[in-house]
Amino acid sequence: MTDVVATNQTILVVGGGISGMTAALEAAECGKDVILLEKNPALGGRVSQLYRYFPKLCHPTCGLEINQRRIKGNRRVRVMTMAEVTEITGSTGDYTVNVKLSPRYVNENCTACGDCAQAVEGEVPNAFNYGLNKTKVAYLPSAMAHPMRYVLDPSAIGTPDAEKAKAACKYGAIDLDMKEENLQIKVGAVVWATGWQPYDAAKIQPYGYGRFPNVITSVEFERLADPHGPTSGRILRPGDGKEAKNVAFIQCAGSRDENHLRHCSRICCMASLKQTNYVTEKFGDDGKSTIYYIDIRAIDRFEDFYAKVQANPNVKFVKSKVAKIVQDEKSGNPVLHGVDTEGYHRYATEHDLVVLAVGMAPSVPAGKIPAEIVADSSGFIQQDEANGGIFGAGCATNALDVNRAVQSATASALRAIQVVNQVARAEA
Ligand SMILES: Cc1cc2nc3c(=O)[nH]c(=O)nc-3n(C[C@H](O)[C@H](O)[C@H](O)COP(=O)(O)OP(=O)(O)OC[C@H]3O[C@@H](n4cnc5c(N)ncnc54)[C@H](O)[C@@H]3O)c2cc1C
Ligand code: SF4
Ligand code: SF4
Repeated sequence: MTDVVATNQTILVVGGGISGMTAALEAAECGKDVILLEKNPALGGRVSQLYRYFPKLCHPTCGLEINQRRIKGNRRVRVMTMAEVTEITGSTGDYTVNVKLSPRYVNENCTACGDCAQAVEGEVPNAFNYGLNKTKVAYLPSAMAHPMRYVLDPSAIGTPDAEKAKAACKYGAIDLDMKEENLQIKVGAVVWATGWQPYDAAKIQPYGYGRFPNVITSVEFERLADPHGPTSGRILRPGDGKEAKNVAFIQCAGSRDENHLRHCSRICCMASLKQTNYVTEKFGDDGKSTIYYIDIRAIDRFEDFYAKVQANPNVKFVKSKVAKIVQDEKSGNPVLHGVDTEGYHRYATEHDLVVLAVGMAPSVPAGKIPAEIVADSSGFIQQDEANGGIFGAGCATNALDVNRAVQSATASALRAIQVVNQVARAEA
């Protein structure tokens, strides 16, 4: 095991999404030493995979870029990517954390020139685009990745592609001898900010996700609309590449349901309202959106955003829990079946594309965190004294929008600072 220089006055932040970045920066800018661990090859989390942010509809890149710049400029934050915590032992003010580092096969000499990607032939599913397209085995995680460094996929190791990538690199950045490493870190407090994952839509059997190519999820729709996404920002349906001008959004897909997630995911109503704007933006008056909903939860300041979408004549609302989807074999169109509860009419309505507003589940449910943590029935971390010096932040604690996730991260950073300050006082 390798030892990393850190003390019990160091704060460990696990998860490099917007919440983890915020917690790390707040603590570091208060003068604390911070280690920020991220399991993916780059920081940014799921926010970096959004096309636009509600309520202002700006691009998430601006918010992320500011944080990246602050991280680059702060020597108190040490970032480790491709890193996962395997064990936490100890107690408040004195934790020992074991970390597994996966090999990237590319070192810090990388200038992101892209020559290695040109040289290789093999491809793997593009995780950043939720597998909607493929990427070369030598790839940049995303257009605005931090660190801005390529990755060589493990599947290339031992194949001619690995040697081709190495030969193509003028900077000596490809290191095929990299191995998995295990680190042991001593820290005083932990901020757990591992965020959320979309509920597995294939489990909602009547909606046919995985069987019908023109039924996709809300997170995939974000990637379709994004100019850096698999279709360069054109809303083309996966089944046949046809423009999807008539889009259905199905709310509560896997949420508020005893058979799936019991909780309301709180964000998916706003996400669908936002996504109707994508349809209008791309197709003007030819773009039609229909939202199938039980009730719309647009809380606080989002009420105005909801009112604006309601005023768009190209957006229709149908109060109904869709019962099932079948596929029209000739057109490939999904056909939605259900009952409109406002008039008790049965419907069988055809759309070009269906977007399932899938629920948000914790990406590491509390039972899988390698430490004893108090959680709610959905696996989100609770604020509880029994957690000692381990504090949940952002979507690891609940389904939250970015604004609330950042507030939660700031609160957790403050709690972690209090712990390491007590350690410092005791040691003085
Ligand atoms: C369809 C959709 C659209 C949305 N649109 C908006 C919007 O427009 N505006 C808005 O305010 N909110 C939006 N949201 C919500 C937004 O995505 C969240 O608020 C935000 O992602 C929360 O950030 P986070 O850092 O808490 O979690 P995440 O973004 O999930 O980041 C968590 C990070 O932790 C890392 N991680 C996970 N497990 C580990 C591990 N074991 N070890 C180390 N690292 C780990 C992950 O790789 C990730 O980088 C949307 C949500 C959905 C579902
Ligand atoms: S690994 Fe080498 S070839 Fe590939 S992007 Fe980095 S510097 Fe360029
Ligand atoms: S936010 Fe809306 S779509 Fe999401 S679970 Fe709650 S009510 Fe359903």
